Amino acid sequence: MVKIIHFRDKCIGCNSCVEQAPSQWSINVEDGKSDLSNAKKKKECFVTEISDVELEENERAAKDCPMKCIKIQ
Ligand code: SF4
Repeated sequence: MVKIIHFRDKCIGCNSCVEQAPSQWSINVEDGKSDLSNAKKKKECFVTEISDVELEENERAAKDCPMKCIKIQ
């Protein structure tokens, strides 16, 4: 399992992560920022785990995020 960390405060809601990995990401209609599916809030960020098959698309999402607010560990 791999961990995804979303520093949501920095998110500008550009939708790029949703396009890259729609099974993990969606835009929140209330504040326009993206939400990471099934994520738990830990201090200033949101964290979830993904399986290896979901890794590639999420690596693309992290790479293309203009705010660099998606980290994969
Ligand atoms: S790509 Fe980055 S800035 Fe754009 S919606 Fe996703 S997390 Fe937010």
